[in-house]
Amino acid sequence: MNDSQHVNDELFERAKHAIPGGVNSPVRAYGSVGGTPRFLVRAEGAHVYDADGTDYVDLVASWGPAILGHAEPSVVKAVQDAAALGLSFGASTPSETVLAELVERRVSAVGPNGTDVRPIERLRLVSTGTEATMSAIRLARGFTGRDLLIKFAGHYHGHSDGLLAAAGSGVATMALPGSAGVPAPVAAQTLVLPYNDIEAVSAAFAEHGDRIAGIIVEAAAANMGVLAPQPGYNAALATIAHEHGALLILDEVLTGFRVSSGGYWKIEALDGPAYQPDLFTFGKVIGGGMPVAALGGRADVMEYLAPTGPVYQAGTLSGNPVAMAAGIATLQGATPAVYAHLDSTADVLAAEVSQAFEREGVAHSVQRAGNLFSFAFTDATPVDYADVQAQDAWRYPPFFHAMLDAGVALPPSVFEAWFVTAAHDDAAVNRIIDALPAAARAAAS
Ligand code: PLP
Repeated sequence: MNDSQHVNDELFERAKHAIPGGVNSPVRAYGSVGGTPRFLVRAEGAHVYDADGTDYVDLVASWGPAILGHAEPSVVKAVQDAAALGLSFGASTPSETVLAELVERRVSAVGPNGTDVRPIERLRLVSTGTEATMSAIRLARGFTGRDLLIKFAGHYHGHSDGLLAAAGSGVATMALPGSAGVPAPVAAQTLVLPYNDIEAVSAAFAEHGDRIAGIIVEAAAANMGVLAPQPGYNAALATIAHEHGALLILDEVLTGFRVSSGGYWKIEALDGPAYQPDLFTFGKVIGGGMPVAALGGRADVMEYLAPTGPVYQAGTLSGNPVAMAAGIATLQGATPAVYAHLDSTADVLAAEVSQAFEREGVAHSVQRAGNLFSFAFTDATPVDYADVQAQDAWRYPPFFHAMLDAGVALPPSVFEAWFVTAAHDDAAVNRIIDALPAAARAAAS
């Protein structure tokens, strides 16, 4: 055992006596990869540092928010300046409107006939992605007067009751069917369908159409590993939902402002006719590392929220001025050049990892959605959760640990996406590439 591991071991033991499982979010416990989680004390650029000072090139990026790199100077300065003016007012601030306008402008596309499509007319700021999706669903139910919700197996939308059925992310990592503590009548309001199967959606609407408030879908699934929608799938969901008077909630908490300046919707909208989700949810990048998330969409739906409408939603820290400053600085820093860098870095890394696996004869599928990527240990190309679950997931822990020993921090679960940042320069990428041969050998054995 090296010293670093010793320090982390001690911290983990102590944490376990103070915090359930020693962590405040389950995947951090390294349950599916084994070993001791690294306790991080500092992060800068593409690097994170554990309590022992060991430096890792980071491919987690705080699960997405650190798109510009950790502790990016313009973001840190914006936060410091805002903090000096007061941490929280519990009242309206100008910066909330600035962030909302930035989001509304960025999530837009010019349609094929030259029309400007702007599906977000109003935005409500909250603090976590869970709050955003939970509130969007309540709003969809309030607006339609219906109760049922469709979600897809392997999609993660946070940990609110009713969304944990066949959820991806930590729930998939722990191989749980859902969560204890969710009342059966609540769970029964969620219809869980296989992903990328439009027939299944049509069949559900044929049977329950007048009771379905909406469909919630990750814009591109990235919580069962990355699994992009088939071309036209999200647009078809919009069409079916609208034919039946239901709403489409496009969950861009993970993909929003990460895979393009306007999220996955914008990639699809620039590629073909723009479909119109009724509501979007955002998180992660929108706060640049501070607790910010949002729901937004059609004005007539959004105005159903209190105080103008009957659907209640609120938050003491919603629109917090320090968090707003981080979000604004991050979005302003996320320029076209940044997205080009993320795309090319993802291309290089995905190809290098794939070649390393090939050299060792490790069957795998490269999973991509824009600059998000991951690897499924299977010969086939997965299209849904069942396919992803059928992979040789046991190959990931030895791969993960070989990379960690070489100073590269990957997501501690095969069911999570890998995240690159604007700060992943040649030196960082080369360290990752250098670590790959031994790690691929570990995955092969
Ligand atoms: N929706 C998606 C697509 C997510 O990936 C996540 C978190 O990973 C959430 C919702 C929940 O966000 P939060 O962890 O901020 O509650």
